[in-house]
Formats: sequence, C-alpha cells, structure tokens
Amino acid sequence: MEFTKLGLIDPILLALAEQGYTNPTPIQQQAIPIVLQQKDLLGCAQTGTGKTAAFAIPILQLLFTQKQHTQGIKVLILTPTRELAIQINESFEAYGKYTKISHAVIFGGVSQVPQVSTLKRGVDVLIATPGRLLDLINQGYISLRHLQIFVLDEADRMLDMGFIHDVKRVITKLPERRQTLFFSATMPPEIQNWQMYYYTIHQM
Ligand code: AMP
Repeated sequence: MEFTKLGLIDPILLALAEQGYTNPTPIQQQAIPIVLQQKDLLGCAQTGTGKTAAFAIPILQLLFTQKQHTQGIKVLILTPTRELAIQINESFEAYGKYTKISHAVIFGGVSQVPQVSTLKRGVDVLIATPGRLLDLINQGYISLRHLQIFVLDEADRMLDMGFIHDVKRVITKLPERRQTLFFSATMPPEIQNWQMYYYTIHQM
C-alpha cells in the first residue's frame, strides 16, 4: 500500500515524499483513516513503529482542511519526556512543512520565558510534558477552551513515571466534546481503568 491510497492531500504527500516515505507502516495504515474520520482511538504501538506519523499526518490534514479557522490551541499532545516532545515537534515540522499549521513544544527544566512568548503568538498544535503544561495553565498562559483533539502518547510510560494525577488534572481542563487518541506500547490493567476514567469524564 502507498500513502496516496489513504486519501491524503497534496501538501502532506509532498512533505512525506521529501522525507523519503512511500509506504505507510501498519499502525499508520490502521490509524490514519480512523483519525481522519474524527473517531477516538486507542492505539497499541511501540516507539519505532511510525506511531508519531500515525497521528501527526491525519491531525495536520484535519486542521488544514477545516473550513472555520479559530484562534487558540486546537490540538494537545501530551508525552512523558522532553526527548519525545522534541521528536514529535520535529515530526510536525517535517510533515506539516507545506500546511502553515503552527506548532510548539513545551517542557520543564528550562526557562519558561521563550515558551511563553511562543504561546503568545498563537499555536495550533501544542506538544507538552505534563508538569510544565499544568504550570503554564495555572499561570494563565494556556487555555484549552478551543481544543479539538487530545493525544496521549506513551500512556504506559506516563503511568510508570508517576504522571497519572497530572494527566487526570489535564483531562479535567479539556472540553467535553473532542477527539481523543491514546497510544501505548503495552496495555496494562491501569490503562484500562484510565480508559474507564476517560469515558466517565466524557459522560458527565
Ligand atoms: P516513531 O515510531 O514515530 O518513533 O518513528 C520511527 C521512525 O520511523 C522515525 O524516524 C520516522 O521518521 C520513521 N518513519 C515513520 N513513518 C515512516 C514511513 N512510513 N516510512 C519510512 N519511515 C518512517
């Protein structure tokens, strides 16, 4: 199968061709059509399987093809480490090169000043680690009022690293009506509980 069979738009196909990608990986073949249909997804995939592109590509396409252009953060990607956050941001840069969709990355352990000035200019896609995200939300620099898509990357590692309470706190700040994508390398019982928690929040 080739990327052209997935119904992707030219600005994205061109960027993928420049990256040297011709065939989608299995997780991409499965996830891209579901995300494009604006459905929720629980994806089981390890790092190295192409999972970043599996969510980044359809998210870019959904934003690019949107008729109404609103201000504010439309997509939040939560990931456990600074390294992963930077990699995801680089993927949005590469695949979104011809889409003009703005993206930014925030993480702790560094000054918040440059991050805050980037946020003030406005971003469509925000990639974040949980602690710094909550910090900047609490300081009033980030509003998730206009959020459309929430991605939880490496959900199992989030649990291992003790981020469950932070993630739950973030989820309470998201609009009820949204698309949610969870990615996890393993599916331990906690993730299933987490899903139940997420469904409970959705039903409230
Ligand atoms: P990830 O699982 O997201 O960490 O991706 C692993 C690596 O695979 C990254 O270096 C990507 O650039 C690369 N990659 C992702 N999708 C494809 C594809 N369809 N064809 C070739 N390489 C890919």
